[in-house]
Amino acid sequence: MYSADEIVNIAQEIRPYLPKLLDTPIAQQVDGQLAGLLSQGPTEPPATQQIVAVLSQHELTREWLRLSLEEHTPAEAILKLLRTYEPLTGSHNPIESPHYVCPVASCHQEWYRRSSTVETPRCPIHDVQFVRDSKGH
Ligand SMILES: [Zn+2]
Repeated sequence: MYSADEIVNIAQEIRPYLPKLLDTPIAQQVDGQLAGLLSQGPTEPPATQQIVAVLSQHELTREWLRLSLEEHTPAEAILKLLRTYEPLTGSHNPIESPHYVCPVASCHQEWYRRSSTVETPRCPIHDVQFVRDSKGH
């Protein structure tokens, strides 16, 4: 078992790094959860189990917790290690972009919506607007 202090320290240490580890909405959510758990009053025991549960929800934060607890790896070194596991590129987004296809059955033109603000384009061959692919993926 690990001491409550160790867990609390890791929770404080990881917070500034969350935007580098997780996608923005998830990073904000985890940060909010940790902030709540770290703001327990001095008479209450630290919420270590909940902190571990929050950090265990996501692969990179779970790995961070493990490296910090078991190998005492400093934060900057963990960040480098995790980045080599999973480069934080544009393709990192786990939410798959909606897939659009040309409504002409024989046409194989396709398009992926990367942003909700972009207007759906038209098929360059048939000049009809792409439609959301209902088959998914
Ligand atoms: Zn087409």
